[in-house]
Amino acid sequence: MFSLPHVWSSLVDAVSTHAVAPALDVLHLGKLSGDPRDIAAALLIAALQIAIITCLFRPLETFFPAEKWTDRKLTLPDRNYTLAMLLGIFPLFTYLILMPFSNLFGGGDASTASTGSSLALTTWMPWFDAHPYVLFGTYYVIYDFVYYWMHRTQHAIPWWWALHSMHHSTHQMSCWTNDRGSLVDGFIQSMILAVVGLVIGVDPDEFAWLMLIGELVQNLSHTNTRLGFGRVFNHCFVDPKFHRLHHMLIDPDRPQLHNCNFGQVFSIWDVIFGTALYGEPPRPTGVGDPVVDADNRCGVIGLQWVSFKRFWASVWCLAGWKPGEVAFDPVDLHPVPVSELDVHALAAHQPGATTGHPAPTAATDKPVTA
Ligand SMILES: [Zn+2]
Ligand SMILES: [Zn+2]
Repeated sequence: MFSLPHVWSSLVDAVSTHAVAPALDVLHLGKLSGDPRDIAAALLIAALQIAIITCLFRPLETFFPAEKWTDRKLTLPDRNYTLAMLLGIFPLFTYLILMPFSNLFGGGDASTASTGSSLALTTWMPWFDAHPYVLFGTYYVIYDFVYYWMHRTQHAIPWWWALHSMHHSTHQMSCWTNDRGSLVDGFIQSMILAVVGLVIGVDPDEFAWLMLIGELVQNLSHTNTRLGFGRVFNHCFVDPKFHRLHHMLIDPDRPQLHNCNFGQVFSIWDVIFGTALYGEPPRPTGVGDPVVDADNRCGVIGLQWVSFKRFWASVWCLAGWKPGEVAFDPVDLHPVPVSELDVHALAAHQPGATTGHPAPTAATDKPVTA
């Protein structure tokens, strides 16, 4: 009988035996503690993700764009970074660090189907054992709640913003932008989410699927499309219009407006904690800070280097730990509170000013759905 988990397991086995294990031997990584099946699963998940982006999200950008771009050149680093991340860096990171780390703390124990944590949901509520889909949904809600607060912290703590700002610096936010991010930031986020997963008892295999759902929703929410989910659903789930407002350039007349819409999959957290913004027409995306905006001159490697330099300069000074919105000093890269700067001058730093690329224009000011 056809069984999805069985087909998946056979596919993972085949890729692991015929491709991953021989490649690890060639690289002399075969003796390490990770399981080659983890890499195979990560590669298959990546292939699935890239196929969905290419076949579904890219056509949305062509037929229902939120912004009209004269050319897509600025999306290239994001696309290249996504491919490098999904097909190389993330599978290796999973194999070399994430899974051994998870196994060290008791993860992957097939006999209990959970991590063995005393705080695991199934430990204090055994009912979940008989309702695996409800359990998975509950895991997801907790995972997404943690993500919301982690994301707010990325914006609030200057050394973390030094890294996360690289994700925001793109002028052309597209379906590839989700994976545009600092590797250091990715490492910190993965470790936090993995620890939360271990504490609540998520099995490492389930963790990969949690991550995939989150990643796909985020690929969609970064897509350059004006589609929304409608008045009811957009108060529960993050849609492309909702996340586009999170990426907006600072509005000097309403300088707090862009501090909104931090949710990953559920917008309900923004509604509950007062950070949700709806009904604004699309605005150009990017950052006002000229130091961060200069990211747009960099390629894939250069982006990592400049964001790391900002991080290094911030993490070793007191200002780097003081919560608040900051820009970075062009000389020593130390954070400077935005409250001490002229926000009109920052806002005048529109996309196109440093790259020669024309600023994008909104395809329509009229939302398709509310
Ligand atoms: Zn953000
Ligand atoms: Zn984003």
